[in-house]
Amino acid sequence: MTMRLFMATLSTETNTFCSMPTAMSGFEEFYLRHGTATQEAPNLMTEALHVWRSRAEAEGWEVTESLAAIAEPAGLTTAPTYEALRGEILSDLDGADGADVILLQLHGAMVAEGVEDCEGDILAAVRARCPGAVIGVALDLHCHLTARMCEAADLVITFKEYPHDDATPRAEELFDMARRMLAGEITPVMSVFDCRMLGLYMTKEGEMARIVQEMHALEETPGILSVSLAHGFAWADVADLGARVLVIADGDAGLARQTAEAFGRSFYERRQALTKDYPSLDEALESALREGANGPVVLADMGDNSGAGAPGDATFMLREMLERGLPGVALGLIWDPMVVRICRDAGEDATLSLRVGGKTSPFSGNPIDIEARVMRIASGLGQHLGPGLEPLGCMVWLRIGEDTDLVINDLRTQVYHPEAFEQMGIRLAEKRLVAVKSTFHFYAPFRAIASRVIQVATPGGASPDFRNFDYRRGGAGLWPFVDDPADMLLDENAAQKSLV
Ligand SMILES: [Zn+2]
Repeated sequence: MTMRLFMATLSTETNTFCSMPTAMSGFEEFYLRHGTATQEAPNLMTEALHVWRSRAEAEGWEVTESLAAIAEPAGLTTAPTYEALRGEILSDLDGADGADVILLQLHGAMVAEGVEDCEGDILAAVRARCPGAVIGVALDLHCHLTARMCEAADLVITFKEYPHDDATPRAEELFDMARRMLAGEITPVMSVFDCRMLGLYMTKEGEMARIVQEMHALEETPGILSVSLAHGFAWADVADLGARVLVIADGDAGLARQTAEAFGRSFYERRQALTKDYPSLDEALESALREGANGPVVLADMGDNSGAGAPGDATFMLREMLERGLPGVALGLIWDPMVVRICRDAGEDATLSLRVGGKTSPFSGNPIDIEARVMRIASGLGQHLGPGLEPLGCMVWLRIGEDTDLVINDLRTQVYHPEAFEQMGIRLAEKRLVAVKSTFHFYAPFRAIASRVIQVATPGGASPDFRNFDYRRGGAGLWPFVDDPADMLLDENAAQKSLV
């Protein structure tokens, strides 16, 4: 009998504090394919589809590829948009007459109008249609890991790395477990431990790099199939906020529970060391200017990372740099479709008076009036995030005065790679300061060209100072708002947190 695989991707990360809705236009402009994603080069959230297709075909399985829909994070997904995307996955599944294995790459932090846990809702609907199928889901580690997801799916895993450069190995692992479960070789049981922590954890250095190694080591324990640490996504006022450990064991619910709890407690005990204070804009600029000239200092405008649902048009950092008259600055990407339009109409080499940024919400600050020369206009370029190529939209390189360069674009996206500047012709090595709107994803490729990288606690819709946000659902009781939520940790977990 030929086995049948059904697969799909749906990904957006909802910043519930962001006033801009996520509508179908957000998916259309970023990435929306109806069963054809594996016919083109992968991006971060379609890497898994490529892996699953090739693995399934090698097994001689039939593959049904459904939706691949990705939107840059913004506010709540509108109800009609969510209904249409969810409906397409389910009607494709109905059209295929079900499947033996269903693998989904979902984000895990999508919130729609009236649906706080979109991924749990989709998985429950998939399970209702296919009660006997093996259902596996790969999530971004910036997810709200919910009981509903784990009840509906047989296998749930998250990325381990942030920046996310491990979508492919995670997809391989999920496929392996699904195949073995289908063959009756393993009986996966899952357990979740709630660490009661809100934070931002880059995994490439220090304590978090060790924690990732520990997860890999735990997976070598006999009987343990998979260990995931869901970091959570901080800019969302949802009930299931915060970091959670998820362990899949082979048939041994007690082992899954003990391992999740032991690892979760060990993560929790290290919360002080894992929590970083980021400098203010003032502190960061003072510190950057003291640096010698061994390549540029790279400043991350964390508060305006559109990858976490900030608008991408905040002007706090640009204003400060212009007011101080700092030399040798490159700054991007500022999302301002109106400025892009005006520059396209004026053409390259035009000198224009422009009002830049600061349009979307109070998180954006005020617009800035500049005189600038249009150095270059380009469309269709991409920037790498791991092996995947992410779109940049139409970009405009503007020069103010002698050596201040801005890159403005019409597609909300964070900066991942120096390519975002250098393909336009801006030579970052010649700059003193390079400012990027991003939190962590930019880090490795920019570290390679920088004398120093400073992540800055700028104001904005994705400020790393969580006290700027009003948490009413799940956030208020978590570290760092509560010094030691350990009692809650015990209560929560005693109250049957384990999902076997
Ligand atoms: Zn993420």
